[in-house]
Amino acid sequence: MRPFDYQRADSRDHAGQLTAGEHAQAIAGGTNLLDLMKLQVETPQTLVDINRLGHREIEDRDDGGMWIGALATNTETAVHPRVRSDYPVLARAILAGATQQLRNRATTGGNLCQRTRCYYFTNIDQPCNKREPGSGCGAIEGIAKLHAVLGASSQCIATYPGDMAVAMSALDAQVEIAGADGGTRTVPVRDFHRLPGDTPWKDNVLEPGDLITGVTLPPPVKGRQLYRKVRERSSYAFALCSVAAIVAMDGDTIARADLAFGGLAHKPWHDPEVGQVLIGQKPGADLFNRAADVLLRDARGYGENDFKIPLARRTLAAVLAEATGVEL
Ligand SMILES: Cc1cc2nc3c(=O)[nH]c(=O)nc-3n(C[C@H](O)[C@H](O)[C@H](O)COP(=O)(O)OP(=O)(O)OC[C@H]3O[C@@H](n4cnc5c(N)ncnc54)[C@H](O)[C@@H]3O)c2cc1C
Ligand code: SF4
Repeated sequence: MRPFDYQRADSRDHAGQLTAGEHAQAIAGGTNLLDLMKLQVETPQTLVDINRLGHREIEDRDDGGMWIGALATNTETAVHPRVRSDYPVLARAILAGATQQLRNRATTGGNLCQRTRCYYFTNIDQPCNKREPGSGCGAIEGIAKLHAVLGASSQCIATYPGDMAVAMSALDAQVEIAGADGGTRTVPVRDFHRLPGDTPWKDNVLEPGDLITGVTLPPPVKGRQLYRKVRERSSYAFALCSVAAIVAMDGDTIARADLAFGGLAHKPWHDPEVGQVLIGQKPGADLFNRAADVLLRDARGYGENDFKIPLARRTLAAVLAEATGVEL
């Protein structure tokens, strides 16, 4: 690990000033950042501890929605009685991630900003356009089992590895960001993470000095909420494919289908056309296949991860069958 300065921010403005420099970085739970610093993937000159800023509250909003502070831990969010009753997809997604010890430290803001688990990204001896722009992408013709089949570019095929944000995408949650200039802005979770394009080093829309202050969940909607994560082990493993679903029936037809997918792209994947195929239709294997055709119309594998395309199809069908009570 390289030497660095450690500063503790005692107010939002102070944090903004400290993190505005290019070589400064906020630290919350530290469960991702410290690992990457030990590997010399992240080399901040100044580490800005934001844990004294508050932003830990989880509370009701006047419109019936909820506010989850940026420094609320993943455990606090997942066990909150209202999250469990009104947003079970979120509780389930968080509990599908990492381990109890990690969830006790991991925060909302840090979870949203966690970095890819691409092997080339975390190995400084390997080429990686995300870590070192212009050095190439080792994964495209290399080890790509965890990598993207949707929305990738010739520069980077990494995936966003998290679970919580996939559920937040299905819920259409909003991220509140405080800028270094003192202003705040709200960005839908669906637009918070970026596709790699020609700038794969930019994971999300944050600029230097920006801090996430929290996430707003919209008022709860009717329907079954499910999160299914397919992975190599039943714990301590990242999603090969995951599906967050909020599905409501009206009689024998589907009235609502809010879906988001993890493990398939550089961001939680939300494609409104998948839901549109389902709404107003009777659930069944043919319909689920048509929805998968839409989801995967531009999918492309890179050898090792070709299996993700049929896996995503089967996982979507299984989740829709469970949500609608259909036997496949
Ligand atoms: C072994 C292991 C297994 C894991 N498995 C899973 C898994 O299955 N699913 C899953 O979803 N996650 C998994 N994780 C990742 C874990 O969820 C993240 O490490 C954690 O959520 C990061 O939160 P943190 O508060 O510790 O972030 P930190 O490590 O403190 O920070 C991470 C990044 O976020 C930035 N940041 C933090 N807070 C803010 C803020 N408020 N505003 C702006 N930027 C901010 C930091 O600058 C840094 O860049 C795993 C981690 C480990 C170590
Ligand atoms: S996939 Fe992205 S993160 Fe992985 S080596 Fe290529 S550029 Fe780097």
